Amino acid sequence: MMRTDILVIGGGASGITAACEAKKCYPRADVMICERLDRIGKKLLSTGNGKCNLSNRELSPDNYHGSFDALIFIEKTPSAEEFFAEYGILCTADEQGRMYPYSGSAASVLNALRLRLKGLGVTEVCGFEVRDIVQAKSGFSVASADGRSIECRRLIIAAGGYAAPNMGTDGSVLRLLRGKGVKLGKIVPAVAPLRVDSERVKGLKGVRAKCVVRAFADGRLLREEKGEVQFTENSLSGICVFNMAYLFGKYDKSLRLELDLAPDMSEQEVADYIRSAAQMRSDCELNELLTGMFCKNLAVYLVKTTLKRPMTETVSGVTASDVKVLTNRIKRCSFDVSGASPWQNAQATLGGIAADEVTDALELRRFKDVYLCGEILDTVGDCGGYNLQWAWSSGIIAGRNCALSLKGELK
Ligand SMILES: Cc1cc2nc3c(=O)[nH]c(=O)nc-3n(C[C@H](O)[C@H](O)[C@H](O)COP(=O)(O)OP(=O)(O)OC[C@H]3O[C@@H](n4cnc5c(N)ncnc54)[C@H](O)[C@@H]3O)c2cc1C
Repeated sequence: MMRTDILVIGGGASGITAACEAKKCYPRADVMICERLDRIGKKLLSTGNGKCNLSNRELSPDNYHGSFDALIFIEKTPSAEEFFAEYGILCTADEQGRMYPYSGSAASVLNALRLRLKGLGVTEVCGFEVRDIVQAKSGFSVASADGRSIECRRLIIAAGGYAAPNMGTDGSVLRLLRGKGVKLGKIVPAVAPLRVDSERVKGLKGVRAKCVVRAFADGRLLREEKGEVQFTENSLSGICVFNMAYLFGKYDKSLRLELDLAPDMSEQEVADYIRSAAQMRSDCELNELLTGMFCKNLAVYLVKTTLKRPMTETVSGVTASDVKVLTNRIKRCSFDVSGASPWQNAQATLGGIAADEVTDALELRRFKDVYLCGEILDTVGDCGGYNLQWAWSSGIIAGRNCALSLKGELK
């Protein structure tokens, strides 16, 4: 059996931050991180395609979804530059405000965080998979899957959500807390592809298209994004779709994505193009009608599924009405969402512990002396550094408040 003053469950971005902040605020307290994997920070290494998009210069409430007002918490903490300066991490930003380490390397961020943990004297216990948490005489007893236990006075739970289970996060701690009566929001994969009927995207696998994506439910426009959509055999992917995945939690299968496949052209310009292509290629087969406007698979798909005629017919048969429906299809190519993507394809979780379950100090109302931070809480950010910013900020708040609550208790 091990013993510590503050135990942090989960060695991800928020857990590491919480541990450092707690130790910094109250150096006399023993702080320990327990992590189920054989090392901490595994997910961090994969962030931003290995470059770690660690924050964003433009933070707005519109970038966060769920029951928390995430920005109100974030604004209570130092700016990303100040925060990373403390860890010796130089940052830079691209033209869209996305912040990265100057090194361009997620590994260097993790190394700097680990150096800070070591410098502060935080202990790491890896290979410790939390199975149960019970209240003990002077705090808590946390049991592992292999029969070990850690006694602590205070707990910080930073065990993430369900997204990317291969990186240690399978929702096990969320389920544990739910079993103890803690209320969760509706859990859905966020920052993830969205599923569509595989028949509707037949022939499009591997296609990438620059477009404007609009999300609708019951005829109401919910969100619009410009970007590149990637088609898989049963889903739409790409950052602009990732940013709409959270909507599935609220609107379920009434969610519909509409792609404007020619976002820089007016309807008139699209129709003019089709008419001139039809004249130019009157002797060609129908499947060549949109050659030169779209890649082969997308061009054939659009003509075939819109005009619904044998592709061996010639372009000479294209009528004014064909031009009209084809133009409409290109400007409003619609897909009903049939489901969320599997957890292994998701980058984040919407619907963790609901905001009304915690205080402003991120302490659980139901269980005093238990603090929470990171993705385990019911908020999710858009792609672009917003989720890591939440992890750092909520980690600071939980770590600081946890340490302050302990002051005076230690001899
Ligand atoms: C591929 C990928 C790329 C991403 N890229 C970005 C990006 O560039 N920018 C951005 O802002 N966000 C990005 N994200 C999202 C971001 O990484 C997460 O939101 C963030 O890491 C959450 O931090 P956390 O500390 O709350 O949880 P996590 O980082 O998920 O850490 C939780 C830790 O708890 C451990 N744990 C879980 N259960 C137990 C248990 N029972 N016992 C002990 N330990 C346990 C896990 O092993 C894990 O180490 C990305 C996510 C993925 C999957």
